[in-house]
Amino acid sequence: MKGKVFVHHPSHITEVKDRLIEELIGALRRAATVLPGDVVAALERARDREEGPARVQLEAILENVALAREKGVPICQDTGTQTFFVRAGTKFPYLEELRAAIPEAVRRATEEVPLRPNTVDPFTRVNPGDNTGRFVPYVTWELVPGDSAEIHLLPKGGGSENCCKLVMLTPAAGIPGVVEAVVEHLAACRGLPCPPTVVGVGIGGGADLSLKLGKLALLRPVGERHPEPAVAALEEELEGMINALGVGPMGLGGRTTVLAVHVEYAHRHPASFPLGIVVQCWADRRAHVRISPSGEIRVMGDG
Ligand code: SF4
Repeated sequence: MKGKVFVHHPSHITEVKDRLIEELIGALRRAATVLPGDVVAALERARDREEGPARVQLEAILENVALAREKGVPICQDTGTQTFFVRAGTKFPYLEELRAAIPEAVRRATEEVPLRPNTVDPFTRVNPGDNTGRFVPYVTWELVPGDSAEIHLLPKGGGSENCCKLVMLTPAAGIPGVVEAVVEHLAACRGLPCPPTVVGVGIGGGADLSLKLGKLALLRPVGERHPEPAVAALEEELEGMINALGVGPMGLGGRTTVLAVHVEYAHRHPASFPLGIVVQCWADRRAHVRISPSGEIRVMGDG
């Protein structure tokens, strides 16, 4: 209602923070154990068009996904790096509670789900054992008009993260240069990122932003096209060319190397053309949480 003011009593704020931690643990659990329906459907479509070893691989993957869901256990032994994307309204009243709840939820989820402790100090090699550390869990904050917040969770496996790449193209290379670089890179990765993958391609911005855009593109349901026809056409072209490589499920050959390619872009400096290639494995785990201005928290269905 226009002009309505919510007064948040301190006990209400504490209660929201506690509920937020619980709901985020639930989202972390869901992401680790239940593969979103759009990913399962894409894997099933891939299985149906494959034969021989490629089909056997996809059948094994789908059986593993069903067992994880049924038994409430992680889909893969690598439960990933817990990565958060928050889109918060400038008038969202629980920013501090949300900021504090994220690492706390990750710590508790590591024990309760459980998640594999995946954070190592690069100098000492010490693993704190709770999936937190310097800058981790990393949260990408975006401020938008409004008074609610959306949280996307993307646990990112190490094998597929190792296949991410930044390419600084020359501006003259243009979009044909993007196609060549992405297809060449996916051919070089072969089975390493546990295909069939979902590839996020970030074009433009700066070096850091292009990779971030690639990761943001992964938050879309698998195969949902970019709203701009030229970008959607590039996604389709890349999918066709990468699948024509024949790398196949787990690199054993076949028609399906990628389930989808998602492209996102930003304007770039005239002298540079950054290209971020982000590769996500078949375990394309996601969860999505919404918080209303009155403190109502909803874990949304898939991703
Ligand atoms: S790349 Fe993905 S599927 Fe492969 S081991 Fe890592 S998390 Fe698991």
